[in-house]
Amino acid sequence: MTEGGTHQRPPSVDALARSLAGQFELPHAVLVDCARHAVDQQSGDYEEAARILAEQFYSSLIGEVINATGVLLHTNLGRAPYPAQPSSRATSVEFDLHDGVRGSRHTGIALLLRILTGAEDALVVNNNASAVLLVLSALAEGRGVAVSRGESVEIGGGFRVPDVMKRSGARLVDVGTTNRTRRSDYQQACDVAEHDIAMVLKVHPSNFSVEGFVEAASVQDLAGLEPILAVDLGSGLLDSEAPWLPSDMRPFPSWIADEPSVKQSVDAGADIVMFSGDKLLGGPQCGVIAGRSDLIERCARHPLMRALRPGHHALVPLQHVLMSYLNRTATDDILFWKMASTSPDDLVSRAERVVTQAGRGEVRESLAVVGAGAAPAATLPSRAVVVQGDRTGELRRALPFPVIGRVADGYTWIDMRSVDPSDDDNIAQALTALED
Ligand SMILES: *Cc1c(COP(=O)(O)O)cnc(C)c1O
Repeated sequence: MTEGGTHQRPPSVDALARSLAGQFELPHAVLVDCARHAVDQQSGDYEEAARILAEQFYSSLIGEVINATGVLLHTNLGRAPYPAQPSSRATSVEFDLHDGVRGSRHTGIALLLRILTGAEDALVVNNNASAVLLVLSALAEGRGVAVSRGESVEIGGGFRVPDVMKRSGARLVDVGTTNRTRRSDYQQACDVAEHDIAMVLKVHPSNFSVEGFVEAASVQDLAGLEPILAVDLGSGLLDSEAPWLPSDMRPFPSWIADEPSVKQSVDAGADIVMFSGDKLLGGPQCGVIAGRSDLIERCARHPLMRALRPGHHALVPLQHVLMSYLNRTATDDILFWKMASTSPDDLVSRAERVVTQAGRGEVRESLAVVGAGAAPAATLPSRAVVVQGDRTGELRRALPFPVIGRVADGYTWIDMRSVDPSDDDNIAQALTALED
């Protein structure tokens, strides 16, 4: 390495790494890596370059944050929050405690899902995208699957119905039109022998809506057709009756009332339903397949199942969530339903307390949304603490936890509906720490 006239002599990598040690809680090997990259730049302020690299590294790590965006299920912030059950113990995930032999990781959860949804059996995989892939592969490989042109959608994150279909080895058979599809359209497709239709797939268009001259065949309309009737529900509302919600939320707001649900889809004649664990269900990332036991059995025996099987880190919280529905403690234990069912009055008093404690900001009416592509047009009345200007960068660096807000109309909005009350003090602290 040459020493040019304008160039500072590069420090030793080790000395540079040690100079960063106080600022970031990063392992020495990581600081060495940052220092080496800084020195490789061969010019300028090596210490500053190394510090920036270390900071970038630090903020790329996954950490806990306070979701004050007002988007209850924020995909960038991990969708549904759920309380961690930290434990270093082993679990009986595949162990039968009664007989002391190998058990199935699905038995207990399938029992809970049967009671909650009325389905004969159930199976859990890593996410709903896996659920759709597995169902198509196990039940329709090499055969036709009829999908309405209005439901041949992209869900987001590159998940497109025609592409997943191709991957699974099933053949997409388009039926109906973009805006109107009837039972007779599906029936006609089924009557064409070359189509060899194994399955009719309904896909919930969770993240968009079509208005106007629109018609779609419901699950009930399609029940009784010859092929397997499968429904990708996406958002995973367990039951339209939502018996876990307090009576003062009745009649339900449209984002619940209009949402197709698992139980009612099974009742209406769906053979298989699929949904996400971390949307309206309010659990960990996973995908649930529920339905006829002979079909669940075929999915469970398919070779892909081994690649898609969830770990106990997902199954244990899922089990807790399902228990909370059955115990009628959902609005306390399932954080999504806790956020969604909080009354505006509660939000007002929490926001006022934050403003008083912080000594800055004011309380404004705001609108929260469900998020995660569920009920895209629906809003929930909320309250926010607002401060003038764009303070989101400073709030992202707040201690003890980054606070993620949003900017609108020249103000920074901290929406209280997506915040757990246990974080109100942390928000007040973050606001207090803002520079004047
Ligand atoms: C969200 C969604 C998916 C994907 O679910 P993941 O759990 O994110 O994999 C698939 N289909 C529909 C209809 C959805 O809404």
